[in-house]
Amino acid sequence: MSVGRRVLVAGGGGFIGGHLARHLLAQGHEVTVADVKPLEEWYQALDGADNLVLDLERPEACEQAADGVDVIYNLACNMGGMGFITANRALCMNSVLINTNLLKVARDAAVEQYFYASSACVYPDYRQQDAEVTALKESDAYPAMPEDGYGWEKLFSERMCRHYLEDFGMDTRVFRFHNVYGPYGTWDGGREKAPAAICRKVIEAQENGSYEVEVWGDGLQTRSFMYVDDCITGIDLLMQSDCQDPLNLGRSEFVTINELVDTVADIAGVEVKRRHNLSAPQGVRGRNSDNTEILEKLGWEPQIDLRTGLEATYEWIKEQYERRKAGDSVVQ
Ligand code: NAD
Repeated sequence: MSVGRRVLVAGGGGFIGGHLARHLLAQGHEVTVADVKPLEEWYQALDGADNLVLDLERPEACEQAADGVDVIYNLACNMGGMGFITANRALCMNSVLINTNLLKVARDAAVEQYFYASSACVYPDYRQQDAEVTALKESDAYPAMPEDGYGWEKLFSERMCRHYLEDFGMDTRVFRFHNVYGPYGTWDGGREKAPAAICRKVIEAQENGSYEVEVWGDGLQTRSFMYVDDCITGIDLLMQSDCQDPLNLGRSEFVTINELVDTVADIAGVEVKRRHNLSAPQGVRGRNSDNTEILEKLGWEPQIDLRTGLEATYEWIKEQYERRKAGDSVVQ
């Protein structure tokens, strides 16, 4: 993207949107960020951006946020980790309003490019029942049977992008993110995902002297995890490419949740016992990203290995934990 574009990052008060807004500002773009949360709850409220607190489920809020912009990145979504999305299916599905309203205003304002953050949760459960996964390729999304609630919202929204492309010629781009982790994301309070949750639990286990960490399920379920910097690089490359079909964006290396716990404990320099909670939500049994298409279309795939990414994440969460303990107000 040439410098000096006017861009909107919807959901930029959140984790990935905050990193993206910072990156776009550094590239010299004029950045508007919109998020429903009060400004003090944004992970990164950036100087130099136009920061708007707006509920983008409302059409008039989308009009205000998109006023005069050339490019829209939609990362706004009411979501969280497995615990949140299984207990809040209706809330997750309401986010369909955000993408629908934003697409409509983007069409009316002849916005040049539109990005939608989809998810690996669009893939059907029947392809993810084995921990020794066959990596998911893009065509596996159909016949459709995505994650209930959240996954249906993602699949419907990415299909809307496709129809806006076909019917109105809008240049829509879609990535299906596989678990993204890193600093400046949720780490406590119920919306956190596995990498952040495990980092916090390892810190708590040292703090309370139990050296015991609760793991949801038997820990043998498998996932791939992508560091947020790779996510931002991927978005840039996708926007510069001519690829308008939904693409996977994830690491092709997968680990068990037990291995994730062991890596975090090793980074912390401690040994922990795992206590398995078999009644907690666990999601699909195994999931990994098939990167054949992204390599073919972008000539690139996420590079940052799990240990390197977790070191930075653990360090940031530890710092937040210590600050909260000292009575500072921190965003969690
Ligand atoms: P996040 O929760 O940190 O960020 C989403 C932001 O959207 C939040 O700040 C939230 O306040 C905002 N939002 C929610 N409802 C809104 C509304 N009505 N109006 C305005 N803002 C609203 O999540 P994230 O991890 O940064 O995820 C960003 C996007 O990437 C989401 O669409 C998510 O579904 C997708 N995704 C994330 C992951 C991941 O592992 N983090 C994986 C797959 C897909």
